[in-house]
Amino acid sequence: MNIYFDIHTHTLASGHAFSTLKENIEEAVSRGLKAYGVSDHAPAMPGSAGVIYFNNFKCIKRQIMGIEVYAGVEANIMDHEGNIDLDESVLKKMDYVIASLHIPCIDPGTPKENTDALIGAMKNPYVKIIGHPDDDRYPLEYERLIPAAKELKVALEVNNSSFVARSGRQNADKNVMKWLEIAKSYELPVILGSDAHIYYDVGDLEKAVEMIKKAGYPEELVLNTREDGLKYVLNDKAFNV
Ligand SMILES: [Zn+2]
Ligand SMILES: [Zn+2]
Repeated sequence: MNIYFDIHTHTLASGHAFSTLKENIEEAVSRGLKAYGVSDHAPAMPGSAGVIYFNNFKCIKRQIMGIEVYAGVEANIMDHEGNIDLDESVLKKMDYVIASLHIPCIDPGTPKENTDALIGAMKNPYVKIIGHPDDDRYPLEYERLIPAAKELKVALEVNNSSFVARSGRQNADKNVMKWLEIAKSYELPVILGSDAHIYYDVGDLEKAVEMIKKAGYPEELVLNTREDGLKYVLNDKAFNV
């Protein structure tokens, strides 16, 4: 499987990650990626950068060390209506927005509440990716989540870090197989993300690719394998507005 990009990665700015933007880009280059994206945690994550960081992406060049560089954010979903922790004035400057459920920001609810939270976030026009919908700490109603993602043109993520015990996420392998099976019948575009918190994990999508293969998921629906795949998740009004 030819992988063109990895856009779910963290830098020192997230407060609990360990590499610089330059180190991450170097790793992306050495793995032969065509595009790299940085997606630090939005401000509600304890220790993460403030709004001023996300407002200053204009100083990042579009091409660095020969690859395309995109700057986005992993926003925190804050309630069961799906409100996230950045407002439109900031979101419109992002190349892309991932929205995810994180323990420090929202307590787990019932499957209905967790699913309502994700669907609410997907209705935000800037949110184009739902990060790691695979964690038994936040059980989900996939039968409801997947048609909503299809309708709202949001990609669900197969997160490589979810399959590693240190992520803290529970039963991700079982949950990913379950939702990929449903997503297949909706022909839902999916995105693979490393969720790297240190440079050497940038572009490591090995376990996610294994899952895709195991599920028999059609390769043309895996955005990372397509040169035009990024278009599905990019905010075309980003950066210079
Ligand atoms: Zn996350
Ligand atoms: Zn992340």
